[in-house]
Amino acid sequence: KESGKASWVRFEPRMRQDMVHHARLASELHNAIIRGELRLLYQPVFDLVTGRVAGAEALVRWQHPTRGFVSPADFIPVAERSGLIVPLGAWVLREACAQLSRWRAEFGPDAIESVNVNVAVRQLRETGFVDEVAAVLSDHGLTSRNVILEVTESSVVDGWQVRDTLEALHEMGVHLALDDFGTGQSSLSLLRQFPVDVLKLDKSFVDGIASGADRGRLAVAAAVAQLAEHLQLKAVAEGIENEEQLDRLREMGYRYGQGYFMAKPLPAAECGALMSGAGRSFAA
Ligand code: C2E
Ligand code: MG
Ligand code: MG
Ligand code: MG
Repeated sequence: KESGKASWVRFEPRMRQDMVHHARLASELHNAIIRGELRLLYQPVFDLVTGRVAGAEALVRWQHPTRGFVSPADFIPVAERSGLIVPLGAWVLREACAQLSRWRAEFGPDAIESVNVNVAVRQLRETGFVDEVAAVLSDHGLTSRNVILEVTESSVVDGWQVRDTLEALHEMGVHLALDDFGTGQSSLSLLRQFPVDVLKLDKSFVDGIASGADRGRLAVAAAVAQLAEHLQLKAVAEGIENEEQLDRLREMGYRYGQGYFMAKPLPAAECGALMSGAGRSFAA
């Protein structure tokens, strides 16, 4: 079905295995949500100029009782196809907002201002998504300034319904980040059509930055930084793994960055510890 309506694909035994695997994973995921096997880690977003923590991205983790750790790269696509992403995403949004309000209670003005939450296209298509966001924010004593929704380029080209939803969120004051920026089909025209506030340069471009290893990717990374500056958007570089990448990105004009070089996704308490006093910055 995925290859389009009017084509036939030979049904290989491997595909049957995949289908069975997906069906089983989907039903286990359903139980996981109910049983509370999901949790969130938070990857700090750093201000590359001051070295301070400027935000945090919520990343879901699934500790399966027998399979062990299941990567979101494996179960998020399954959740999207089965529709489970809707309750899963609702849980993520609620939990991330609850955590931000706990950090605010604990660290006061030192706490980050907003938390980043990944949102799948399926959620954006759900009627009532905008109301849900508003309700979750108010339930936790937060405002629209306190959450940044991360959407991918491919999800926003989905049609008028998604477009209306994004516009309504923008009207409400919720900031939108284009995730994995540069990997999609129509990056540039999208920026004029959608109310985007943040560009997150995809890790693949950051990977190509090391001493002229890949001039094409280097050029894209530099161009995205300039684009962000001209359009007055925040530029965030994803997946920074070494000091050389960090330095080059800073030179290019990236004000914000995430990556293992500064911090991996962390349990809430460890991420919070970076917000308080002296612990707040990485060795810039
Ligand atoms: P993403 O939103 O682009 O998140 C960035 C991914 O890169 C995360 O993987 C993060 O752990 C990883 N990463 C960050 N810094 C580095 C680095 O320096 N090196 C390397 N190698 N990786 C780095 P993760 O947590 O496995 O998530 C993968 C993807 O799954 C996310 O990509 C996002 O698309 C999706 N995802 C995760 N949590 C959620 C969620 O709650 N809802 C939705 N809809 N999608 C989610
Ligand atoms: Mg993201
Ligand atoms: Mg990304
Ligand atoms: Mg990604």
